Amino acid sequence: MTDNMRKEVLAVYAVADAAVGAVGPRCDASGRCCRFTEYGHTLFISAFEAKILLEHAPAYEQPVSRDGCPFQIGGLCTARDARPLGCRIYFCDESYQARMAEITEDAIAQLKQIADAYGTGWHYAPLHHFLNEPREAGPNNRAGDSMTPPATRVPLPVVTHSGG
Ligand code: SF4
Repeated sequence: MTDNMRKEVLAVYAVADAAVGAVGPRCDASGRCCRFTEYGHTLFISAFEAKILLEHAPAYEQPVSRDGCPFQIGGLCTARDARPLGCRIYFCDESYQARMAEITEDAIAQLKQIADAYGTGWHYAPLHHFLNEPREAGPNNRAGDSMTPPATRVPLPVVTHSGG
């Protein structure tokens, strides 16, 4: 992923964060949404999101099961600044579901436009897939050293809402 691509993906995050923040969905901070099997859903992410997550997330043990995210520790997200779009947009607040679908659709469309513009192809898979196969996040991914902080850290959008 080039720096320009990364900036564009982070800009999509910022737009999504602002859109979610404008609604202010309720979060009960149960952490259930990160325990996928228990909650009955799957978190899909793009290779772009996987790359940013892998660059900034703490170390984790492989293999990663589909049951839950290894970055949820003690009920809290330990990869919060680099969390993927689904984590930013998803809230279980019933009154927010329709708007959530719109924000998700817009954000994914923007990511696909970036993929088209840079000719990367579109790779979208469950979180645990990328965590187990980090090289699939991109040819320049620091996969083998995905637990190593990058030499140059890119500022990530600051979010003020809780949840995801
Ligand atoms: S990255 Fe954070 S918010 Fe997303 S599933 Fe993992 S623990 Fe939950």
